[in-house]
Amino acid sequence: MIRVTKEGVILRKTDFDFENESVLNPAIIREGDSLYLFYRAVRKGNYSSIGFCKLDGPLTVKERFDIPIMIPEFEYESHGIEDPRIVKIDDLYYMTYVAYNGTNALGALAISKDLKHFEKQGLIVPEIRINEFTAIVQPMDKVTNKYFTMNVGSGFLMNKDVVFFPRRINNKLYFMHRIKPEIQLVSVNSLQELTKEFWENYFNHFDENIMLKPRYSQELSYIGAGCPPIETNEGWLLIYHGVYGISGKYTYSVRVALLDLEDPRKVIAHLPYQLFKPANDYELSGIVNKVCFPTGTALFGDTLYIYYGAADQCIACASLSLSSLLGELVNVKIQNKKACSIKIKSIQHLTHNVLKIVTEKPPAFDFYPGQAAEISINKNGWENELRPFTFTSLPNENHLEFTIKTYPSHKGVTKQLLKLVENDEFILHEVFGTITYKGEGVFIAGGAGVTPFICIFRYLKSINKIGNNVLIFANRTKADIILQQELKNLLGKNFINILSQDKVLGYAQGRITKQFLKANVSDFSKKFYLCGPESMIDNVEKQLYDLGVNEKSIVKEEF
Ligand SMILES: Cc1cc2nc3c(=O)[nH]c(=O)nc-3n(C[C@H](O)[C@H](O)[C@H](O)COP(=O)(O)OP(=O)(O)OC[C@H]3O[C@@H](n4cnc5c(N)ncnc54)[C@H](O)[C@@H]3O)c2cc1C
Repeated sequence: MIRVTKEGVILRKTDFDFENESVLNPAIIREGDSLYLFYRAVRKGNYSSIGFCKLDGPLTVKERFDIPIMIPEFEYESHGIEDPRIVKIDDLYYMTYVAYNGTNALGALAISKDLKHFEKQGLIVPEIRINEFTAIVQPMDKVTNKYFTMNVGSGFLMNKDVVFFPRRINNKLYFMHRIKPEIQLVSVNSLQELTKEFWENYFNHFDENIMLKPRYSQELSYIGAGCPPIETNEGWLLIYHGVYGISGKYTYSVRVALLDLEDPRKVIAHLPYQLFKPANDYELSGIVNKVCFPTGTALFGDTLYIYYGAADQCIACASLSLSSLLGELVNVKIQNKKACSIKIKSIQHLTHNVLKIVTEKPPAFDFYPGQAAEISINKNGWENELRPFTFTSLPNENHLEFTIKTYPSHKGVTKQLLKLVENDEFILHEVFGTITYKGEGVFIAGGAGVTPFICIFRYLKSINKIGNNVLIFANRTKADIILQQELKNLLGKNFINILSQDKVLGYAQGRITKQFLKANVSDFSKKFYLCGPESMIDNVEKQLYDLGVNEKSIVKEEF
């Protein structure tokens, strides 16, 4: 668990014409003890330019310009220049930004030697029509369908969030960009290589250029590069934004991945939960509600400051311990295994909406109790729709078992599961997960969030070490409780149910409150394992802190 401190708002709009609507999404670069902050300044009517201010240390504004440092000059940016990011490579500063001409939003570059004068280099991603992109990429059949459902229309393909790595890697320049829903990566010896032929070749091998895919529940709609990657001994630390929801009601949160230093296409670790998300008023409501959009960082000692646009209306900052974050990422390293197909041996309903699916197990396949894998359905059009599901079988069994709650209204993968029959196939991708057993404690689950705990309890039982572990299981109704009898047999009186909707004799009713925890937990110095929907986890976590639980004692995963 990573403790994040929200430092609050550091910059708001002013009455100056160029920034009288909002200020947001800053590029940050540190020079000595000062931070240079180049931010998106928006004047009424949504016309953006780049404003400038200087900070003394991480949080104190020392100097602020009353005119923009960069304004739109060319047709391709005629409606605004937005969302800058900055790095220093060799002796040059590279500032990327979104050039918006009222219809297309494409990544552009400006270069500076002194942070005062910037020379525009033009667009550095191609202007390609959506139908041309689809015609090249779709027949490859190796990418998610979302590329074709999210990028629709007859205009040009939006290609934003261009962010450079802050040094050459094996003599090459690397930059990320984002065509929804994933982050792609370009590497070139020099920017002159970015010709029409280069991009044709790039799109012809598009699947090989995808760097990071949405993996976890609160980022499943799409992701995009955030801050320039930070070089660490463990790998490149990438702080990016993850988006989830339905159109018009998206939440943008801040997430982290660790990439290989020599080959950033290799993802070493991916934090299964968001680092932080909109929670304060200034993040929850503004020009666009529920947005934390990270674009720059600065390191002071071990404290990493993350600067972000909050609700598209102001600039805020959050801080955390870099060494703790790296420690957490090392714990969730991805085991890179080759994807393989596995036959379904049986499917049955455990509850009205939960399936138990048993499959073959690949030879020499291993995982820890509590871990999950990315699974897709081996059927036309579904092979690239990867979703995380936890193993509920034990590592030493000769089959795999999954316990899966279905959501027909999402029109996603779990709806398709309801149509599967014996001998259909899954594709088993990478294994990962934060929840592993770290000692006796209190397990708190909401709905399908109980799945990692099922595996852990079955494992502990198999080695006769179920001990005094407690499970608090929250569901809406009695009919939603998964494997009630088995959990009762495993845990006896330490199996505690709470129902938010049903009133049933012998079951607690309501939500998990501080009072409920006090009444049911005897020792708050133990480990706490949390897994379930985001809102439940947030709530319980807050109460546990109030009850004196140390953040190091909390292990969690959001479903
Ligand atoms: C590490 C991990 C392990 C997990 N293990 C398990 C497990 O063992 N068992 C289990 O049951 N679950 C598990 N989950 C949760 C599971 O991955 C999700 O429930 C699953 O991905 C849902 O997939 P879906 O395609 O059906 O729906 P989604 O991917 O949630 O939705 C598909 C699309 O529907 C839209 N949508 C989103 N929300 C709504 C809404 N409220 N109404 C309508 N449309 C919506 C979105 O546009 C979305 O792109 C796990 C999650 C994680 C992170």
